[in-house]
Amino acid sequence: MNDHDRKNCKALLGTLSEYIDGELPAELCAEIEKHLEGCENCRVVLNTTRRTIDLVHAPADEGVPDDVRERLFKRLNLDDYLRPIK
Ligand SMILES: [Zn+2]
Repeated sequence: MNDHDRKNCKALLGTLSEYIDGELPAELCAEIEKHLEGCENCRVVLNTTRRTIDLVHAPADEGVPDDVRERLFKRLNLDDYLRPIK
């Protein structure tokens, strides 16, 4: 994966939760979907994040504190994707 793609991934993953929540403008969603088509890495992260959010949003888990959510993300190794690019 080249540096340009890495930057696109970083930008995409930074807006992932908004994208999943449907809070992004249509043109940005279109860009994200275009990137996802060509980037398996981001598709995997998207699916994993969606599952995590489903877990967090499950009725039994209402009011999950941020630190629990953070631990979930860590367990899923999403930290690797959220680290700044060197
Ligand atoms: Zn990507």
